[in-house]
Amino acid sequence: MRVAMIGTGYVGLVSGACFADFGHDVACIDKDAGKIERLQRGEIPIFEPGLDALVAENVEAGRLSFSTDLSSAVPEADAVFIAVGTPSRRGDGFADLSYVYAAAEEIAAALDGYTVIVTKSTVPVGTGAEVEAIIRRARPDADFSVVSNPEFLREGAAIEDFKRPDRVVVGTEDDRAREIMREIYRPLYLNETPIVFTNRMTSELIKYAANAFLATKITFINEMADICERVGANVQEVARGIGLDRRIGGKFLHAGPGYGGSCFPKDTLALVKTAEKAGAPTRIVEAVVDVNDRRKKSMASRVIAACGGVVEGKTIAVLGLTFKPNTDDMREAPSLDIIPALQKAGARVRAFDPAGMKEAAKLLDGVEFCKGVYETLDGADAVTIITEWDEFRAIDLERLKGLMRSPVMIDLRNIYRPAYMAAHGVKYHSIGRADSS
Ligand code: NAD
Repeated sequence: MRVAMIGTGYVGLVSGACFADFGHDVACIDKDAGKIERLQRGEIPIFEPGLDALVAENVEAGRLSFSTDLSSAVPEADAVFIAVGTPSRRGDGFADLSYVYAAAEEIAAALDGYTVIVTKSTVPVGTGAEVEAIIRRARPDADFSVVSNPEFLREGAAIEDFKRPDRVVVGTEDDRAREIMREIYRPLYLNETPIVFTNRMTSELIKYAANAFLATKITFINEMADICERVGANVQEVARGIGLDRRIGGKFLHAGPGYGGSCFPKDTLALVKTAEKAGAPTRIVEAVVDVNDRRKKSMASRVIAACGGVVEGKTIAVLGLTFKPNTDDMREAPSLDIIPALQKAGARVRAFDPAGMKEAAKLLDGVEFCKGVYETLDGADAVTIITEWDEFRAIDLERLKGLMRSPVMIDLRNIYRPAYMAAHGVKYHSIGRADSS
């Protein structure tokens, strides 16, 4: 199959490279000329494990190419995927569909022969119909179908998720489009991946329902953590105790500083707005959005409390800035709430992140970025772990004590055991666990 991928970001680049690896002929298009130049030079503009090798192999094999111009790839394509961003619209929280609609206009102008246009971006119910109307208006003569095919990959494990997904969702009622989508995803039949064929609106809603459900699970366990702290229970054991029930499942039950990232915050908010507009408000998701926002904002006060209530003039070491490990993505990361609040309270912040510092430097002022864990700890009055990168899991505690002015750790990801830290003389504070468990 010939595939054109419009938008070469986290989703477009991974999807394009994986489709090429399946044997399809893929052209990845992006408006960002700098990004395309880097890709043409063999550089990967994002941090995603395994992506550099996958891209290089498929470029080498002649199945993957990059361009800023869709006019040669679209006419030849069997399917054109739209994988552009759908951020929150400023002011009202609805999804901003301007990039999707602009892409639809550009695709319309280049269509030639029957083409399936696939919305991979996360878009509210009804967007497929609007994309269809835009293309139909521009090209009354064109032969095309608009299909919804939301993406469920996770940054940091994106290639594995794309190649071995729990399911693929395809929303279309058109037989021709269904056959092309089946052909594109045929390599996944080998893994027996379930392909859920449904109508377009249902497919669009599935993506929001999935993200809202996962965000709810995280927020639920975070509230359980708050209860645990008050009553002296242990949230990790609560999570294990409920997660072993297969009706609940153990995933997404890690208490922490509140979810961030490029998807959950904007998608929960967009679902709230869609639901309101549809006259079917979703009070659970509204509460999740509200509780999570407050939680992210309240995390700095935990750090301040652990420092005896005052951080004025103190140095706080921050380990981890990205919204989760194995990515350089800083969008809506909890660190963006926590660090400015600490600075506002008078703290000096030193920080280290294995992949996110370049992005973080654009978003955070006055932070001293360090080269590694131990440089960050040097002279600090307290250290807080905000992202659970692997390299933070086995810090040499004797070295830590030697470097820090006082060995105080606020671990917002529960990567250490309180009893172990106590045994090593570290004043340790975590989420939802009594300090000695
Ligand atoms: P991104 O910002 O990394 O990439 C979007 C790209 O689209 C950018 O490179 C931008 O330059 C390009 N673009 C915008 N308009 C264009 C146009 N008209 N023509 C060509 N290129 C254009 O975004 P992302 O994280 O890849 O997300 C894309 C979509 O996928 C969003 O709707 C998002 O919600 C969804 N999604 C993201 C993830 C994730 O983990 N990032 C997971 C599942 C779904």
